[in-house]
Amino acid sequence: MDQTVQGIPASPGIVFGSVYVARWPTLQVPHATVSSEQVDAEVERFRAACEAARRRTRKLHDTVERRLGAVQAKIFDPQLLMLEDPELIDDTVTYIADSYLTAERAFSLRVLEFRSQWLDATHARVLDRIADLNDIQSRVLSELVELDVPDDRLSEQNAPVVLVTKDIAPSRMVELDRDRIVGVAIDAGTRTAHASILARSLGIPAVVGLSDLSRRVRTGQEIILDGHRGQVMIDPSESQLSWYRDRDAKIREMKQDLASLVDLEPVTRDGTHIDLQVSLELPVDAKMAAATNAHGVGLFRTEFLVIGQSSVPNEEEQFDAFRSVVEIFAPRPVTIRTYDLGGDKFPLFLPALAGENPFLGWRGIRLYEELPELFHNQVRAILRAAVYGPVKLLLPLVNTLEEVLSVKGVIARAAAELKDEGVDQGSCELGVMLETPAAIAIADILGPHVDFFSLGTNDLAQYALAVDRGNAQLSRFFDPFHPALLRLIRDAVEAARRQGRPLSVCGESTSDALGVLVMIALGIRSLSCSLDSILEQKQLIRSLEIGRLDRLAAELLELETGHEIRRRASEVLSAIVDVSSLGTATSLSRTD
Ligand code: PEP
Ligand code: MG
Repeated sequence: MDQTVQGIPASPGIVFGSVYVARWPTLQVPHATVSSEQVDAEVERFRAACEAARRRTRKLHDTVERRLGAVQAKIFDPQLLMLEDPELIDDTVTYIADSYLTAERAFSLRVLEFRSQWLDATHARVLDRIADLNDIQSRVLSELVELDVPDDRLSEQNAPVVLVTKDIAPSRMVELDRDRIVGVAIDAGTRTAHASILARSLGIPAVVGLSDLSRRVRTGQEIILDGHRGQVMIDPSESQLSWYRDRDAKIREMKQDLASLVDLEPVTRDGTHIDLQVSLELPVDAKMAAATNAHGVGLFRTEFLVIGQSSVPNEEEQFDAFRSVVEIFAPRPVTIRTYDLGGDKFPLFLPALAGENPFLGWRGIRLYEELPELFHNQVRAILRAAVYGPVKLLLPLVNTLEEVLSVKGVIARAAAELKDEGVDQGSCELGVMLETPAAIAIADILGPHVDFFSLGTNDLAQYALAVDRGNAQLSRFFDPFHPALLRLIRDAVEAARRQGRPLSVCGESTSDALGVLVMIALGIRSLSCSLDSILEQKQLIRSLEIGRLDRLAAELLELETGHEIRRRASEVLSAIVDVSSLGTATSLSRTD
């Protein structure tokens, strides 16, 4: 019997294979002691193991840097820090010296104590730390004792396998054998987890947040993994297999056809121009993104600069990163969003402000007063980058006018400082994210103080519907087509129009054909899509007739449930394009 399990899409692509359930060794180290005379030698053995683990981690860092880039390599920095953390290392030495424990036993105990403090954690920040700790635990222990290597059986598999596992350490992800492993399905994880970032960089299709999948499947079972939609199908039926093969072929074909769209404008059949921009997460993607002929960068997320960082990023490294993207896109504008930390992103330098409810706690613009240096350095770097092309500065998670005014003060001071120092700077338009219902409700109050608005569909859905956007188990409640969201988008469009301020939309819905259709119907004329989907959305835009969509908007706004809205919009979309070929159309009706 086929079963479909919904998770979080982490890396795009459709793959077919048999399941390989990897259960990494449980690292049970038996209780064992040494004599008092052996203590010094045991401490030495432990320190040597740590040094060897550090060398291996540094090597891993360098390999990843060469293969994937400096940002991805930073993922290993927190592990290097842990391997020097006195609470972990010196306390282990104390256990050896005071309790005569063997190095492996003392270290395992100390790791266990660390882990038990975090056991009930659900925050991504802590979950990432646990993954790092597990990773270094096996690296140190493998220097001290013989470990079972589960990959032995994996290397015996001939056919391509989809690796199914509870969680995966970044180092294991990097070392996966691409000839054998065609996809990865993980019980834990978030889109921003290290393993997900690496899967995307490595081009391995992946779905995360699959709950207890690794307990529900057995090695050898057939599986389809759809990394676009974040689904896996276990023991798929013949009809599902052929539907997905067909879909896979169409997506590949379409990706090739899409190349011919690069030089065409995103203009509807009846002549309405849509401002089609691209969203960027890493500067290394900028060249490819610019080659799509996107009108600019509608959202440049800057959190990549803090991955693995133990201190606030300095101005120069930010300036270099921003300048490289601005130069590539000039004269097209680049919208740099200032740090949106907190929520599910807690770098090491962020004080323990997580609280029990991090998405409702210290996040986005709220942190700028707590960490003035963080924002100040970033603003200086952005103003300096604006010398090389048009730059817009976008503020995340704005909820009040006071926040905007306070930030404007910081920007003015940074500009005055640069002037005094004789450092070249450009000017930037200032915009705010509309990503909470509160921000939309006061868009008329914010409008006179800013130059543009950017509506973020991910957080807007999270905050309007009170659903954690990263929790796969709640995904059925996270409905981007909920009538409340359509009304909020309509309100934002009207407020921006009244204020005479441009409104652009970013977030996952802009990478979803159905989402794009609905937003254009609601009056949105500027979108920032993922690099992966931008040409697909251009193709859709070129198939639309705006004249017909006005009626659709009125009709959708009358409907009472998300289900009805999705069904009606799907009907309209199916009449316009072949929906089975839409790689990123996560919201369309499926085979089931
Ligand atoms: C959003 O919230 O929709 C958005 C674009 O920002 P992020 O996904 O980075 O929170
Ligand atoms: Mg957001």
